Amino acid sequence: MSPQTTDGQDLEVWIDQDLCTGDGICAQYAPEVFELDIDGLAYVKDGEDELLQDPGATTRIPLEILNDVVESAKECPGECIHVRRSADRVEVYGPNAEED
Ligand code: SF4
Repeated sequence: MSPQTTDGQDLEVWIDQDLCTGDGICAQYAPEVFELDIDGLAYVKDGEDELLQDPGATTRIPLEILNDVVESAKECPGECIHVRRSADRVEVYGPNAEED
């Protein structure tokens, strides 16, 4: 399946820090939304480039970097990057998504 929003709906992403290995792959793929904090784990950033340090915090994915975020979720060794529809919170990419 190609990485696109379903019906143009907003997508958002969150990280399960309990499983994050801190390798930084996500921050290399999509530094606009992922960053390693001083605890060595990855967190998401909001649209103002502000790091959201609450575990499991969610941020909206700008369409222009959706591919990068989806690639991050696929490559994430901790399998802890979750991409879901904002409207109904159904995961579309990540370990809990139905398709691979
Ligand atoms: S790719 Fe996954 S495991 Fe690696 S730093 Fe990012 S969230 Fe953590």
